[in-house]
This record gives sequence, C-alpha cells and structure tokens, in this order.
Amino acid sequence: MVQWIYSFGNGKADGDASMKNLLGGKGANLAEMSSIGLPVPPGFTLTTEVCEHYLSNNNTYPNSLKVQIESALLNVESITGLKFGESKNSLLLSVRSGARTSMPGMMDTVLNVGLNDKSVKGLAEYSGDERFAYDSYRRFLQMYGDVVLGVESHMFEDLLESHKNKKGIQLDTDMEALDWSYLLDDYKKLVKDETGCSFPQDPYEQLWGGISAVLGSWMNRRAKTYRLLHNIPEEWGTAVNVQAMVFGNMGNDCVTGVAFTRNPTSGENECCGEYLVNAQGEDVVAGTRTPQPITISGKNANSSEQLSLEEFLPDVYTKLLDICRSLEGHYNHMQDVEFTVQKKRLWMLQTRNGICTTKAALKIAVDMVEEGLIDKAEAILRIDPRQLDQVLHPTLDLSVKREILDVGIPASPGAASGRLVFNSADAENWVGRGNDVILVRTETSPEDIRGMNVVRGIVTTRGGMTSHAAVVARGMGTPCVSGVGSMIINYEKKILKVHGQILQEGETITIDGTSGEVMKGDVPTIQPEFSDDLLQLMKWVDEIKTMGIRANVETPSDARTAIAFGAEGVGLCRTEKMFSDSERIIHVRKMIFAEDEKGRRDALEKLLPHHRNDFVDLFKTMNGMPITIRLLDPPLHEFLPTNDIDIANFAKVSGIEACDIKARAAQLYELNPMLGNRGCRLGIAYPEIYEMQARAIFEAANVVIEAGVEVKPEVMVSLIAFKSEFEIFKKLVDGEAKKVREVTGKELDYKIGAMIELPCSALRAGEIAKVADFFSFGSNDLTQTALGLSRDDSNSFIQIYREKSILDYDPFVSIDVDGVGELVKIAIERGRSVHKDIKFGNCGEHGGDADSIKFFHQIGIDYVSCSPYRVPIARLAAAQAVLKKQD
Ligand code: PEP
Ligand code: MG
Repeated sequence: MVQWIYSFGNGKADGDASMKNLLGGKGANLAEMSSIGLPVPPGFTLTTEVCEHYLSNNNTYPNSLKVQIESALLNVESITGLKFGESKNSLLLSVRSGARTSMPGMMDTVLNVGLNDKSVKGLAEYSGDERFAYDSYRRFLQMYGDVVLGVESHMFEDLLESHKNKKGIQLDTDMEALDWSYLLDDYKKLVKDETGCSFPQDPYEQLWGGISAVLGSWMNRRAKTYRLLHNIPEEWGTAVNVQAMVFGNMGNDCVTGVAFTRNPTSGENECCGEYLVNAQGEDVVAGTRTPQPITISGKNANSSEQLSLEEFLPDVYTKLLDICRSLEGHYNHMQDVEFTVQKKRLWMLQTRNGICTTKAALKIAVDMVEEGLIDKAEAILRIDPRQLDQVLHPTLDLSVKREILDVGIPASPGAASGRLVFNSADAENWVGRGNDVILVRTETSPEDIRGMNVVRGIVTTRGGMTSHAAVVARGMGTPCVSGVGSMIINYEKKILKVHGQILQEGETITIDGTSGEVMKGDVPTIQPEFSDDLLQLMKWVDEIKTMGIRANVETPSDARTAIAFGAEGVGLCRTEKMFSDSERIIHVRKMIFAEDEKGRRDALEKLLPHHRNDFVDLFKTMNGMPITIRLLDPPLHEFLPTNDIDIANFAKVSGIEACDIKARAAQLYELNPMLGNRGCRLGIAYPEIYEMQARAIFEAANVVIEAGVEVKPEVMVSLIAFKSEFEIFKKLVDGEAKKVREVTGKELDYKIGAMIELPCSALRAGEIAKVADFFSFGSNDLTQTALGLSRDDSNSFIQIYREKSILDYDPFVSIDVDGVGELVKIAIERGRSVHKDIKFGNCGEHGGDADSIKFFHQIGIDYVSCSPYRVPIARLAAAQAVLKKQD
C-alpha cells in the first residue's frame, strides 16, 4: 500500500529532513525536529503525491488515504491525550500547506479545525477563558469561511466593524466574550446566506474541507504567479501538514514569535527575532500590533521600550536559544524558526534555512567556514550567483513605500531614479543641466548610445533580455527594464501613458532593473559594498573553477571594471560600438554614402586612426590578457540618422541632401535585418571595411608591443555559415597582418576564429574548424536562429509560453539545453574531431547565467564571456559547476 501519510511527534517521526520532495520543506523539517527530540506539536503530513493524485484525478483522494488519516489521528490523540470531535478536551488541528521550497503566503492555511458549537464550550472550560474560546471560534469561522467556503474575508470584517461601531468599541482587544459570541451568530448567518448551507459542525467534514482547500490553493492565481517568477515547476505539488493546535493567544503567559539563529541583515552570529504576547502567528503578519524584540541586544539596537522575551520569560528564552543553537548545529545552516509559547511551554512550529540579504549570506558562509561548521566548497555552493547582483549594484530601500507603474523584463540589474526623457539629445541636455535622467524609449538603437551613456537608467517598451537596450545597459552596468508593453510613448508631445496615468518629460521615476519594476517618484536606493567576505569567497571560487571568465567590453573604462571584478580577458569586443562616437560616426556615414569603393576607402582611411587608437587603449588596459575582437556585425542601416534633427545635422556636415539621406536609408532598409546583410555577409560585399579594421588591430598591436605590453589579438568573424565564407576572411586578415609586418618588419602573433551563431555553422563545425583557431558561440543569435524566435520581439509571447508551461524559462536568459545546447555540443564534438587544440568560448548573454554556465562547463567550453558587472556571478557559477559535477 502506498504510504500517503507520515506521522511525527513525541520524539519520533516517519520522515526526515532529506524527504523534502515528498513531505515538502515544512513537513520534512517538522519530522526532523521531532526525531531529534525538540518540542513539536504532534501531527502528520500528507505527501506531495496526494496533491498530484488529487489534482490529476478531478479533485479526488487516493482510496487508502481516509484509513491512513484516521490511524494518524489516533496517534496524535494518544500523544496529546485529547480527542478529535469530542466536545470536552477536544483535539483541535491546524491544516497548512508546505511545498518543497517556501512560497510565503501564496497558499492557504486553516487553523482551529475541530471547533464547533459544542467544542467551543469545552475549549472555554479547558482554557478557563471564555473570551479566548469564542475569539478562536470566530477566527476559525472567518478563515474556513474564506478559504474553504469561498465567503470573502472582508464580509466577516464588515460584520466585526459594524458590531464594534454599535458598541462603541475601538480595538479587537476590547471585545469581550459576549461580543464574540454574538458575532458568531452573525458569521454563521453570513455563511448560510452566501453558500446556502450551514457552517459545518462535523469536525471530519471540516478536516477534509481544510485539506481540499490547501491542495486546491496550489493552483490559485497567487501560487501560479509565484511559481512562474521563481521557476518552481507545477508538478512539484504541495504537501499538507495537519498538526495539533497550540495557542499563543491563550492568555498573558502565551506568545507567538519568529527567530533567526543569526542576524539576517548583517549576518552577525547573534539570535534575533520578534514576538507578540497573547497572539497567534497571523497577528504578527497582520501588523496591527508592534512585535517586541526577542533579545535585550535587539531591544537596545532598536531603542525599543518594550520588554524583550529575554526579560519577559527568561526560562523560555534560554530554552529557545538552546534550540536555535542545536538546530543550527544540526543543519549547519542559519535557521529561521517559528515558535509558540502556550502557558509558558515552548513549542517549535517550523524551522527552515533562513533567507537573508546577500551581505549577510556572504558573512554567514565565510564565518561558518572559519567556525569549522562547513568547508569552502559548501560555502561556495551556499551563495546563489544571482543574489550577487545585490552587492554589485545599488538596490531599492525596501522600507520606503513604492507606487509601481508597471513591471517589465529585469534586463540589467540595479536601481536608479531620474527625470523622465524620451530621446538621447534631451537626455544629454537634462544631464548637462545637472539632472539624473531615466531614458524611456520604444526600443534603442546604436544611435542612442550617447544618451544611454549618460543616463542613470533605461526603460524600453519593447524587447527582451537580448535587445539592444538590454545588452548595452548590462555592459555599461546601467539599470534597465525592457519590454514594458503597457507603456505608450508619444515622442512628439513628450509624454508617457501607462495604465491610465500620464507622465510628462521631466517627472521623476525610479526603476529597478533587478525586479523589472518601474515606479513613480524618487525611491531611495542603497549603495553596494564589495565586502571582505565577498573577496574571501571569490578567492576560494578562483581556486576551484576551471573555466575562464572573460568580459564583453569595448572601452578602457569598462575593461578596468571587468578587471576589478576578476575578468581574465575580453571575450567579445563589439567593434561597431567603437563607431558610435560623434567623431567616428560621421566617417562611417560618409563611408555608407560613398558612391564607389574609392569613396568608401577614403572615408575608412579617416576612421583608421581613431579605430587604431581605440585598440591601443584597450590593449594597454588589458595588459597582456587575451582579447577577442569581433569585426563589424550589424547591418549598415543601424548607423544612419533616423530622426529629422539628426538627418538635418548630417546633411549640414556632409553636404548630402536630406532627401538623399532618406533615400539611401530606404535603399538599405531590410524587412528582416537580423537575418539580412550583416556580419560576414557585409564583409563579403564590402571587404574594405574589414581590411581597415584588421589593419587598425595589427597596427595597434605593434604600437603596444613597442611599448613593452604583450598582446595577442584574437580576431573573430560573425554570422559564419560556411567554411568558404570564413576562408575569405582568413585570407583578408592574414593579408592585412602581412602588410603590417612588411612595414614594421616585426612578427605578429594572432588568432582568427569564427562565431558559431547559426545552426548551419554548428552542423558544419567539422569543416570550419579545419581553418579556424577558435570558435566563439554567439548564443544570442544561435537561440534566435535555432528557435526561430526574434530576440527583440519574442518577449510578449515567451511570457504566454511560460504561463502555459510550454517553456519554464526564457531561452534568451538560460540556454535551451536540449535544442540550442545540443547544437553547441555537436559543434564542439565535430570541431574537436578535426582540430584537437581548438578553443571554445561563449560570448552571448548566457555567459552570465548560472544554469547556462553549468551546462557550458559540462560540455567542455574553455571560457564564457559576459558583461563586466556579471563577471563575479559567472566566476561563482563556474566554481559551482565544478562542485556540482562532483556530486
Ligand atoms: C550573440 O549573438 O550571441 C552575440 C554575442 O552577438 P550579438 O549579441 O552582438 O549579436
Ligand atoms: Mg550575434
């Protein structure tokens, strides 16, 4: 017979902490606490398999469940000496959810199950407190009425308010036994009116009602949204914990509270927490009373006047402290516990690994290694790489109220506030006048780069994680929220409409690129700290990781950031970004407008010294580290002016008529530019552009070598599909190297490699690898082309795919292992089979994503490259990939 129920209590348990998948986090830890002899109210857990059965069989239970529940109830009755369904000495139960990972407040709970018109009198007698008994019964009516019977909670609250008004009572605490008992009649009538049935008096009916409501709440909207946000699979299901009630509200020697075994904000090794006298857990959540500190030191830290638990119930406090210590020693993890004190007797209701700030998590991990509780590998595994964003970027001060306008894609982490502007020129003007600015655009293009460079944050109404705005913002470390589909920009009027609100240019907004929220007004932010604990952890990380971590950078200042964050080289220098500067863009545009090759070469000749200087600066900054330089990638139209002001300006400096500029733009227009004339295709049509770039690279290499700096450029060509394309570039690059060598008489050491970002090149890797020194996977374009999903437009429907569980991740964030990943794997196998020493890198955005990094490590990629601010995240993920492989 399948075991659907696991009992615990009285120093014993059927389950243990390792059984989280079956018993949920709460159930597994209740079992563990019980079996190590901690005071846990006895109870039992319905497994997550019950949930699976219930939801996939039309909300029905497995056959043997009823018998197993009855036998488990007998066990609880024998431990407590109480009886379920009796009017005197009645056993009352709590029915709570408990998924594998905590989903705070997302699912339902029913307390005081077993109370009815008879047992409430028994409870009054047993507790010697009539008021408490009737209050408990009305709480039960309200909770059960809401959660199980679907009578909205506010209807009960309305009745309570009108009773209080009638009697001139201000606070719930002023309600007397008789008041609650009158109210009970009103509550019962409400249930009858709303549901057509009387409130169930049969305790077993109540219990089954509670269980089905908790199981059903796995599929409620809140829980579904939470799962989507936290990548929790729907098939996990929830366990249900049924447990004997203990009461923190049975008088003034009763309390309810929560405690952390270490400080969750600072990480200090000190117990801290809060409690309420004569209250239930829900009262702490409701926030109607201010909780009191547990320790005297907590009281002093908050300058609180209230009595700490340490002073109020010193024996209970000492016992709680002992339990906290033993729990931490048992789990070797900071614990977050819930407890109740009923008539001075301490009961533990929950323990789980505590969630804390990243700063605290780092301190706790490092301290625990020093205290000998865990080893370095465990400390590394304890930190979620995504969490590191919190200490690398400014974060919002969450204690301040926020008015959220909408939520988009969290495209580049960090929080920022500034004046709202709608184009780059205005951004520069506002910044020039001393303002912080947030640039809001439908989407950005290379033309916006100057504006993007000076603003505090960027919002786009279209695009996802690999859109231009997202990639550029991450590279700059500028917070960015993309794809806020509900926002409508009117560029002419300089206004923004969002959910019925209108915001004008110059109004202040705040964005959080870590959560995707866009808020009205100025929300204060907290600056990041690169703590000693982080540095220590990163030292351990570097001892373990085997994969190289490089950065995607173009400028010396980004390169310096990358080095400070631990980058070991440049994995992608997108040279087109070096053309957006106002001095360069003019020559690029003239080159595009040239009528013949000679005209193009003349314009390129002007660009050459600028480009060479860019490389000199970059090579010097990287000081001998490897640098992969990608030759021009985007289609030419991206360099053209688009708005009338820019067109007029260019017409003035170039002498070309505005109408001719527009005509040329129309000529270059492509229906599908991402699959159009870009990357190597452009170089086949206009080799002179690529010759100039190769020359600039080699001449710059000579300059820095002369100055005593080592450099070995790795030249890379994008969008390769065929070996023959790559051979054309190899000849071109080798030819330029030869020309430079002939002038300088000096040898040049360099490599030339192909970007593998089309399914075709992955499949033809065995051919291409014969002539390439390295492959760098462009996982952004490879995802786009393998899945046929536009990286700029797919955001809206990927969300729908996620909601419908077709995809449980965004493939532009985390590599699609079985599809896109398989292509990478094939390319590696085929490439290596013909070229034993060929090197493999990944330079798409997946290089900063922990799950993707683990996959890249497993298939033998030599390095990943990501934006500078994600380098520490990638280093940590790379070390975790080694440790997880050893599992
Ligand atoms: C890629 O496609 O993964 C890549 C790195 O190139 P880009 O994002 O510049 O197209
Ligand atoms: Mg690409």
